Amino acid sequence: MNQFSIRKFLKVSFGAKVKALLLLLISLGLPSLFLMFLAFRGIENDQALEEQKLLSHHSELADSLAAKVDREISSVEKRLQDLLGVIASSNKAGYMEQLKEFASSTLVDEFFILNDNHLQFPLTDLLYENTSKPSLQKRTRSGGAKLERLIDQAEEAEFQLKNYDRAVVLYRSALSATENNNIISDLLMRIARVSVRAGDFTQALENFRIVSEQYGQSQLPGGQPGGLAAQLELIELTLHMGDTVGSAEMTFKLYENLLVGTWTLNRSQFGLARTKIESNAAILNKLFTPADLNATRKIDELRLKADSLVFRTDFLLDLRDLVSPVILDQRLDFLENKNMNSHQVIEINDHQNLILIIGGSQRYDNNVIVVGTLLDEGALLSDVISNIVNNLSLGEHHSLIITDEMNERLYGSPPPEESRLTASRGFQGDFPPWSIELRQVDPRFFEQILSSRRSIYFYALIIVILALTLGVIMIARIMARELELARLKSDFVSTVSHEFRSPLTSIRQLSEMLHSGRVSSEERRNHYYGVILEQTERLTLMVSNILDLARIDERSFRLNCEYIRVEELLESIIARTGQIAGDEKLPVRLYVKDPLPVIHIDPEAITHVMNNLIDNALKYSGKSPEITVKVFHDENNLFISVKDNGIGISEDETDRIFERFYRSGDELTRKIKGSGLGLSLVKELVEAHGGNISVMSEVDRGSMFTVRLPLTKDED
Ligand code: ADP
Repeated sequence: MNQFSIRKFLKVSFGAKVKALLLLLISLGLPSLFLMFLAFRGIENDQALEEQKLLSHHSELADSLAAKVDREISSVEKRLQDLLGVIASSNKAGYMEQLKEFASSTLVDEFFILNDNHLQFPLTDLLYENTSKPSLQKRTRSGGAKLERLIDQAEEAEFQLKNYDRAVVLYRSALSATENNNIISDLLMRIARVSVRAGDFTQALENFRIVSEQYGQSQLPGGQPGGLAAQLELIELTLHMGDTVGSAEMTFKLYENLLVGTWTLNRSQFGLARTKIESNAAILNKLFTPADLNATRKIDELRLKADSLVFRTDFLLDLRDLVSPVILDQRLDFLENKNMNSHQVIEINDHQNLILIIGGSQRYDNNVIVVGTLLDEGALLSDVISNIVNNLSLGEHHSLIITDEMNERLYGSPPPEESRLTASRGFQGDFPPWSIELRQVDPRFFEQILSSRRSIYFYALIIVILALTLGVIMIARIMARELELARLKSDFVSTVSHEFRSPLTSIRQLSEMLHSGRVSSEERRNHYYGVILEQTERLTLMVSNILDLARIDERSFRLNCEYIRVEELLESIIARTGQIAGDEKLPVRLYVKDPLPVIHIDPEAITHVMNNLIDNALKYSGKSPEITVKVFHDENNLFISVKDNGIGISEDETDRIFERFYRSGDELTRKIKGSGLGLSLVKELVEAHGGNISVMSEVDRGSMFTVRLPLTKDED
């Protein structure tokens, strides 16, 4: 059967070509374009979807962070509330315990309570207050006129007369005239001072010690606590007396006392005391030997501690100044709404402090209690928020940043410039007043996700287009085959009817002539009989060719093989050809080289093969044919070649002559009768034996067809 090929397609008419191309466009081009469009849209949709997903995911993350932070703050509030409850129930022991526990919470930096319109920090001892307390100056109030007079006289003796002994005596008389601790400590300080002037250091030391030990909390006329003033004098005096070790010890002790808030001081009193202590320490430092390194280190430690406590005290004093009015403002609201809470952001030194305030009423007197806490912003960022963010598992392509109102970054590493903002929001109730920003760090992120998906689309598209192409090719082939079949059928009918008609016509005419007895010459009659025989033989050959081919097509053809001697078969075929031709000088020569082995073949089929080949050789050899049939063999095959000196076959046709109905296009051949079926049958029969047929030919010089038949080895 013929194959679909480009060559055949090119032979098709122009209209059919246009139709075929149109069909190709409709069946292949349009679906491919449509699929491409769908794939492109699919990719676009995917990208939009992916972006949308990321945006809503980031927005959820930001919401979840805000909600979690709010929960943490609420939990601090809850504990503050509990604390308020304990305070309201006036359970002092419980309050201290709960306060300690509250203070240990991560987020709590400081606790405060409004007491007597005054904000207090129960967890922290302030080093000093920023207001100076009114000094209790009035000696008369407790000492009366006598005391006044004695003191005036003593001062006169001390400062004007420089009679120190008398001054000491007078001050001592004054001492016995009062019981007021402040005045006693003032007088003792005066006695000590006069003793120093008089050079009686022992007396002076003793009096300073008494003030320091017994009247530590008394208040001197300048408002300074007696203990502090006496100790300051003591460290200077002992140093002056050359007792560096004693002075150093006392200096450390005094510094420590000052830092633990032994005395209630105002800012300038604290500053003054600290300066005095440090200058004494500086003098001592110069006197220290390298062995006293410890002392130097200790002073440095105390100085550092003092710095940080001063800083904290200043901060809390500022906080108090700023928070107090806020609370006082809200006091009424607190009274009305029990357990009301308020979130405040208080700015101190350009820094925003987060404050929670809760108010409630005391159970008995219905007074408002207001407590509050300063949140530890550092802990909020580095502990709470950092933990939450770590659990959000953002991945390397995304980052989370927290900024304050001034757009200063508080959390997260700086985003690269090409990063893209995906979500931004504040915290709940704008507390803390910061904003959360989520960013896609790598702008090629989507590209990366989508590139793999894009290649899947691309390959799927290629596969679908290939499948379509394959489908179209298959359909085209089936159609071509059907068309070819239709053409073959019509060719067959026309060829066969034509090929049958001419031999039948000549048989009929000759038979009529013979029958009517019009042919008188015996020689002529014999010639006519020969022609009738030849034509009949040709018809027989044609009919058997057609029948054999039909059987081969229906697959009902079977070889009836037997072991035969091929030279005998060939001799009989050639002899029979001679008989039919009626020519004693038959131009067919048989050459058999070497004795031939018996061969297992279907003699009838091989007879058909040989008849067709010899018939062709005779037909296409013109007036003086010379035909040689050669038989030879090798180890495995037997070869029969039929060589003629005829018109030959052009090179480009040698393959096609074995196709059904193919006849050479050459004019010479067209004049010679034939159906184009012979060689195709020869090929089928030879191949049915497991052999093949080949041809070598040269135009105008002749052709040689060679049949190869395999020798089946007979075991017997
Ligand atoms: P037919 O001979 O009836 O046309 P065949 O199938 O026997 O059909 O041969 C096919 C074609 O091959 C012929 O039409 C002819 O052109 C060419 N052909 C076959 N045998 C020969 C030959 N011996 N010499 C030249 N051409 C040949």
